Amino acid sequence: MNATDNHPEKSTCNCKVGRVIDEYELATLNDELVTYWTEEGEQRYSLRELAAYVNRTVLRAAMDNAGVAYKDGEVENTYRLLTDDDVSSGMRTETRRDLEHDSVPVDQVERHFVSHQTVHNHLTDCLDTSMVKPDDEQRAENARDKIRALQNRTVAVTDDTINRLNRGDVLDVGDFDVLVDVSIICSDCGNQYTVTNLLDRGGCECGDK
Ligand SMILES: [Zn+2]
Ligand SMILES: [Zn+2]
Repeated sequence: MNATDNHPEKSTCNCKVGRVIDEYELATLNDELVTYWTEEGEQRYSLRELAAYVNRTVLRAAMDNAGVAYKDGEVENTYRLLTDDDVSSGMRTETRRDLEHDSVPVDQVERHFVSHQTVHNHLTDCLDTSMVKPDDEQRAENARDKIRALQNRTVAVTDDTINRLNRGDVLDVGDFDVLVDVSIICSDCGNQYTVTNLLDRGGCECGDK
């Protein structure tokens, strides 16, 4: 018998992630890992999230192989029950028993779970991927957005709070505006900037020389 039979989607590496890909025939997993790891901004997965993603994919494949029918979100929840520190041991035992009852080889599946370090090695060594860092300008823009959102939220909460006190006669004030300014003071020279100014000029004046 030809050794390559039945393995049309042979993975290219022999690390644990590669072996799991072969075992469960997860043909698209490598592409997904690279995409999620190199995605820009908030969409990007951390290595821990990627490891959990691999493990949930493994669990889903094992449940598929056993012919288990599951509802939307059930695989995610089962994975959480198997791995989360907050789950009681009784609850975990029950989850494992349910899976065994459905002919899912739980022990084997758990042995196939990978760590974030394993995923990191697979991405960098086997797939030769490096994380694409947003350029400096993009990072400054992201920071600005984040702080602006925080300021807007502070304005909204303050406005709401003052209004409520005003209506409840705890406070007496006419029409009002809320101003939120976030300032940064350089402790080297004492200069003060608004966040926007500091980001625009790229640093404190005292560092210009
Ligand atoms: Zn690998
Ligand atoms: Zn300074």
